[in-house]
Amino acid sequence: MSPLAKAALAKLEEIAKDVELVDGCWIADGDCAEFNYCEKCIDDAVLSRIGEGFPDAIRDGGWTTEHDTPPFCEWCEAKIRYNPTDECSYSELEHFKTYPPDADIGPEEAYDLVAAAENSVSDAEPILVAWATLMGLEPKTEES
Ligand SMILES: [Zn+2]
Repeated sequence: MSPLAKAALAKLEEIAKDVELVDGCWIADGDCAEFNYCEKCIDDAVLSRIGEGFPDAIRDGGWTTEHDTPPFCEWCEAKIRYNPTDECSYSELEHFKTYPPDADIGPEEAYDLVAAAENSVSDAEPILVAWATLMGLEPKTEES
């Protein structure tokens, strides 16, 4: 990674620190494993699923897993902590190529960009360099 891309990544990590993340949970044995829930919603979601005719539905998760797209709680839309799959990083970086991040990038977007960039350094490089240039960042060397 070039010193300028490193500078962008460091700045984005700083912005991303403000993101509020929750651990993802999901319903096991309820035939809806694709949905994610936060710790606050999962128990009610399980009860709801049982009420829908899935008596074996139980709570699962509570830790960080890989996702193909940045996950949100199905009910309250809380942002869930995740590790991006290669597919996730690719599509996130494609998104940022089409819609380059601007100067007032928010913590959630910064978090997604950092996660994708760390998983796919070479694809992220031009996006990071363009953003660093936009922000007027100084190249970051190992010493600084
Ligand atoms: Zn929730």
